[in-house]
Amino acid sequence: MPIPTPSVELIRTQIAERQTTATAVAEQHFAAIAADDATALPLHAYLTLSRERALQQAARIDALADRGDPLPPLAGLPVGIKDVLSTAGIRTTCASRVLENYVPAYDATAVARLEAAGAVILGKLNCDEFAMGSTTENSAYGVTRNPRDRSRVPGGSSGGSGAAVGGGLCVAALGTDTGGSIRQPAAFCGVVGLLPTYGRVSRFGLAAFASSLDHVGPLAHSAKDCAYLLQAMAGHDPLDATSALAPVGNYVGGLGASIRGLKIGVPREVFGAGLDAEVEARTRESIAALRGAGCEIVDISLPNHDAAIAVYYVIATAEASSNLARYDGVRYGRRAPAASLANMYRQTRDQGFGAEVKRRILLGTYVLSAGYYDAYYRKAQQVRALVAGDYQRAFGGVDLIATPTTPTPAFKLGEKADPLELYMADAFTVPASLAGIPAISVPCGAAHGLPVGLQLIAPAFEEERLLRAAHHLELLRLA
Ligand code: GLN
Repeated sequence: MPIPTPSVELIRTQIAERQTTATAVAEQHFAAIAADDATALPLHAYLTLSRERALQQAARIDALADRGDPLPPLAGLPVGIKDVLSTAGIRTTCASRVLENYVPAYDATAVARLEAAGAVILGKLNCDEFAMGSTTENSAYGVTRNPRDRSRVPGGSSGGSGAAVGGGLCVAALGTDTGGSIRQPAAFCGVVGLLPTYGRVSRFGLAAFASSLDHVGPLAHSAKDCAYLLQAMAGHDPLDATSALAPVGNYVGGLGASIRGLKIGVPREVFGAGLDAEVEARTRESIAALRGAGCEIVDISLPNHDAAIAVYYVIATAEASSNLARYDGVRYGRRAPAASLANMYRQTRDQGFGAEVKRRILLGTYVLSAGYYDAYYRKAQQVRALVAGDYQRAFGGVDLIATPTTPTPAFKLGEKADPLELYMADAFTVPASLAGIPAISVPCGAAHGLPVGLQLIAPAFEEERLLRAAHHLELLRLA
């Protein structure tokens, strides 16, 4: 019999029924991480392990099970956390030299809520520096490999999260998504990744890249596990002024309801040049499966689709240039020794930041500067509103939108040297980020022997509908 993929419910049930303990589950995962580190081509998903904190939490869960007390929803679930989310007492580097030895004094709200729901935090996961990138090759601490093909990238920027879940080094992970960084690595690593609505999950304790676009969300083996993690994290947080007051849905409980009659829009703009033929075939097969399950498939148009990448790289870099001004050698992390204050700033930032981060700070400073602000930044904000308007109009006639998550499967390590080429590969994920609406990537087969993701997009705060459709798609694929 095949070993069942571990899940939130399986782990909780096995602990409750005394077939295992949270401590044993955590130890098995630490052993798997060590075994992987010892291989010739390690995944290198983790930057820091939090063994002590994990075992303390596991002991708390085991004590509950010993007493026969009810277990919290995520009891004993081994999770990894992308290293841009603050963890009290545990080094948080943002995969940057500038924060090499930075140890936060507090937890990000998302992290604290997962732990309060019983999750066991194994450690901090590699990513592109400050979440800027699509391959995890921009980490200052070495590349992460794709668990399905170790000569390839796991995607990014949450590449450590995708690789750790896909490679069995945790059961679920937190990632962050500003333009695709949860959904693209999920697609590349053959797992599920959820981008919640902007404001649905608190950003408190997340090192900001582009504040109007940054989202925290889960990567896991199934839509159901993503629903469990979202259920634990969602909801207003007074510590994040942009966190939403909208009521939290019944994400787990709503999965079973029917998808019959759901209208699914398929935007014609995504089936253009640059889309791999096998990725297109897998996408069309998934859409046909949804039709077979009683969904109505509707041809739609998103006229401003092609502008999204340009808009994103103006707004995201502008916000990054402002957010990253705080790494000046005075308040956080690294400080370069220098004779004058100005030189200290200059050298700290020159030595601390990698090439991609510098490129974005320069671009962002340029588009915000006097004389260029109206031509670039203001214009980008106007076109962002048009992109969001496309989705609002489309959702007047459909319940969900389906697209491929990425135009191609995972690239080879080192394959894409031209930043512009990498930026274009985000074409399908960036629009939902700009619109602030939820989206999910679900595995939908293979292209050239590599995982492919189908992306479903929903109107704001309709995560319940989104997860339900993703869950049914998984069931259809198993049938
Ligand atoms: N790949 C995109 C970028 O490089 C998205 C990154 C993200 O979502 N954090 O900016």
